[in-house]
Amino acid sequence: MDLQERLTAVEHRIQETCRSCGRKKDEVQIIAVTKYTTIQVTEQALQLGMSHVGESRAKDACSKWEALHLKGTWHFIGHLQTNKVKEVVKRFDYIHSLDRMSLAKEIEKKAASLNITVKCFIQVNVSGEESKQGVSPNALFSFANEVSQMKHIQVVGLMTMAPFESKVGATRSVFRRLKQLRDELNDQKIFGYHVPHLSMGMSNDFEVAIEEGATWLRLGSVLFGE
Ligand SMILES: *Cc1c(COP(=O)(O)O)cnc(C)c1O
Repeated sequence: MDLQERLTAVEHRIQETCRSCGRKKDEVQIIAVTKYTTIQVTEQALQLGMSHVGESRAKDACSKWEALHLKGTWHFIGHLQTNKVKEVVKRFDYIHSLDRMSLAKEIEKKAASLNITVKCFIQVNVSGEESKQGVSPNALFSFANEVSQMKHIQVVGLMTMAPFESKVGATRSVFRRLKQLRDELNDQKIFGYHVPHLSMGMSNDFEVAIEEGATWLRLGSVLFGE
């Protein structure tokens, strides 16, 4: 299958899942995760209408952005080192991996100096795996409170990664918990604004993520191949 065919197949699966769980297809958007692809393939994805692209390594991400940025919306989805913050916030529209206070402080500082507001997702380590980045659910509310004081960060949602090789049931409970946490943040009015998004679901689990309320799917291999 070529890229267009894979995209059509993925869109069909999204549509069918939305239909079966009673959601509207336009509530769920695709971020085409282009981290393993070339500039040429990324450009092809943009031309096929995948207007949201996700990259995870700052160096590669910045060179791709330089080549292609006028086309599309750019999401930084990987672990972000503090010393790369300036390069990333200058270029990317969204950061999905706000996972620690030192990073929040650095984003706030650099965004203030550039006089911009950075849209961020707080990454939550719902599954509690040692290997995963993210704020623990128990620490989320105090973390969010502190971030809510930062004038150059706008929290647009929560992000998580499900355990990679787990049963559907375990994956589902991770996604469900993330949605509960987002709803609690809104109920408690931690931010002075509504936090709408859930960035969850990858190639191997996006249908479950849709059923549990995902608004952004981060899809790599199902679109671009292994
Ligand atoms: C690579 C990556 C993805 C995409 O993974 P696939 O399984 O290839 O869909 C999604 N989110 C993050 C944070 C990633 O690093």
